Amino acid sequence: MKGAKLVASYAYRSLRYTSNHPLRIPRVSLLLEFLKAMELLEDSQHVESREASLEELRLFHTKDYLDTLRWADENGKVSKEVREKYNIGTLENPLSPAMWKGSVLAAGSTVQAVQLCLEGYRAFNPAGGMHHAYPNRAHGFCFINDPAIAINYLKHRGFKAILYIDLDAHHCDGVQDGFYEDDQVFIFSIHQSPEYAFPFSRGFLQEIGEGKGKGYNLNLPMPKGLNDSEFLYALEKGLEIVLEVFRPEVYVLQLGTDALKEDYLSKFELSNWGFLRAFKLIREALGDGIYLGGGGYHPIALARAWALIWCELAGKDIPKVINSKAKQVLLSVDFEEFEETDRNYMFDRLLDRPNEGDIRKEVKEICQKAKTLLLYS
Ligand SMILES: [Zn+2]
Repeated sequence: MKGAKLVASYAYRSLRYTSNHPLRIPRVSLLLEFLKAMELLEDSQHVESREASLEELRLFHTKDYLDTLRWADENGKVSKEVREKYNIGTLENPLSPAMWKGSVLAAGSTVQAVQLCLEGYRAFNPAGGMHHAYPNRAHGFCFINDPAIAINYLKHRGFKAILYIDLDAHHCDGVQDGFYEDDQVFIFSIHQSPEYAFPFSRGFLQEIGEGKGKGYNLNLPMPKGLNDSEFLYALEKGLEIVLEVFRPEVYVLQLGTDALKEDYLSKFELSNWGFLRAFKLIREALGDGIYLGGGGYHPIALARAWALIWCELAGKDIPKVINSKAKQVLLSVDFEEFEETDRNYMFDRLLDRPNEGDIRKEVKEICQKAKTLLLYS
């Protein structure tokens, strides 16, 4: 391995979602500022993001959808027909600099991360992981499905056994549907059960894929309040099941941070210690892969968690305290807490205390049922 690379850009500062959208917050630029202030990122490790080419975007998306996104971006409006057909210009997926320019930059960065991985680097694109987008419509804040583009790029490069792992608190419906009948791609996701969480229509246990062989799709839909012990239990069991039936040549990992306890858009209760441990578990089991960001709506929690991921990738010791310069970076974020909880711990230390606990019976049962479905049905 040649070393770690962070594919990122300060350009995202001006490519944000607008008004009251949950993604109006700084994310990638904040991570960059925070890592710089903490002296955790060397200039040679930062790879500047580039936009995806039309050819790369076409690896997953239809031409008419891409043309429509670009037209809407240039003209700053959409008609009622376009809104209904492509699901853009809505409250969920609004017109903003993030829609076309931000998404194309994030997708290009994912292709860069894939290329860097194939050259022997450990690459992380925190702007990636937009797993809800469909080939011809936006969905769940996502316009361009960069994980799906990464998978198809790898297929074009000759890979025949690609594993996609998704740790986001929401199910990866756009990616799953894109490869549901594909025996060369295994999708594994741990997420909030669609019985109570977005995207509601996908992510159930019974969805095991429709390939020629056995099911190549593993969903572990989890109850509210998932703690570190439960999340790590599900991840370990899930990886065991995956490796029983699939020998991945390469994997893509989506690292959405919305499973963290601070995140107000999910009901999971992970500490960033648990999040980091999950990342380590995957690398211990599979070696290195391609690392993408994902959801995450609490900017401070997100920056801290991805900083930990970066430390691990770059082989840096995790600093015990957040220095005053980095603390100032976090304090200057314009973000209002939704919950009346004391979050001061976030500004002093980088690594949280673990949120360990009992592993509930229903969590064990879901993993057992998934195993039976995948291996014996
Ligand atoms: Zn999410």
